[in-house]
Amino acid sequence: MSKSLDNINEQAIEDVINKLQNFEETVVKNEESDIEPEELNEEQTKSEEQENLVLFSDLGLDEDVLRAIKDLGFETPSPIQERSIGPLLDGHDILGQAQTGTGKTAAFGLPLLSRVDRKATHTQILILAPTRELAIQVAEACQSFAKYIPHFNVLPIYGGASYEVQVKALNKGAQVVVGTPGRVMDMIKRGKLKLDKLSSLVLDEADEMLRMGFIEDVEWIIEQCPEDRQIALFSATMPDVIKRVAKQYLNSPIEVKIASKTTTATTVRQRYWLVSGLHKIDALTRLLEVEPYDALIIFTRTKTEAEELTNRLLARGHSCEALHGDIPQKIREKTIERLKMVN
Ligand code: ADP
Repeated sequence: MSKSLDNINEQAIEDVINKLQNFEETVVKNEESDIEPEELNEEQTKSEEQENLVLFSDLGLDEDVLRAIKDLGFETPSPIQERSIGPLLDGHDILGQAQTGTGKTAAFGLPLLSRVDRKATHTQILILAPTRELAIQVAEACQSFAKYIPHFNVLPIYGGASYEVQVKALNKGAQVVVGTPGRVMDMIKRGKLKLDKLSSLVLDEADEMLRMGFIEDVEWIIEQCPEDRQIALFSATMPDVIKRVAKQYLNSPIEVKIASKTTTATTVRQRYWLVSGLHKIDALTRLLEVEPYDALIIFTRTKTEAEELTNRLLARGHSCEALHGDIPQKIREKTIERLKMVN
């Protein structure tokens, strides 16, 4: 039994060594590494900024919208909100690069809702989103921002749901429509969604719409909007097609780029190596032999795996300790201290 296992191991090690010899380094290009110096400075001066915090009430938003966000517990604007709200209130086009979770919805929702003509019931704002879930989520957020605006309607329209219900709601009048490109295009073609008096168009997660094959529909929709409409285009990444769309349809946009919180420091080099389960330990020990290091941290998926790996590394002569939630706090702290002291 152990002999055959040894054979397997020998074979595995040989495989690993072969792989290592052909090992092509793959440096994962950090998409955020081209952060403009301006943004880096912004990160560095964060503590200064915290001293003169901008408040939502400083940004010129409508009083009813301010009341609503107070109810939601929003106190200070996120970076994308701080930099987009003013220009959007002033009627500028925006080209925003930011990841999900940075507060984009409020960044465009708050200023655009503040600009809505309350006496009119026609569609004034159209928001395009890549998926039905996102369309619903954005519509719900806009509804919550507009809860103190009287006679105000936000309508999500998306594929896979009944036309009739959505047409009825459109006929009643919705100042804000949030939809997926396919269904929005259908509704325009059927004459149910009229954009002749539209004032603002938002393209949310434009790169996702591109990825899902909606970009032609999006361009068709843009072309149905009035010439003087305002456009806010948000995208996590800026592939060439999105840059082209922005160049073609946006009017001297203000560019807002927010560095992702998960950005890897530019000093970190990332490499990956695909290895199947059985060969992982051999690959790892080989790497430990060939790569110089002072100390290192290995992440595993489960506590059991952390324990198993620790034992296997100890058996191979490495100094190693496990760290997970079942280990008492005091011992965990000691382990971290020891790790820090290695040099
Ligand atoms: P994105 O559109 O970029 O994915 P969201 O607009 O959905 O991000 O915001 C993410 C979450 O953060 C939401 O739950 C939202 O209610 C909350 N949020 C947004 N802006 C603020 C803020 N200024 N203060 C507190 N919470 C906020």
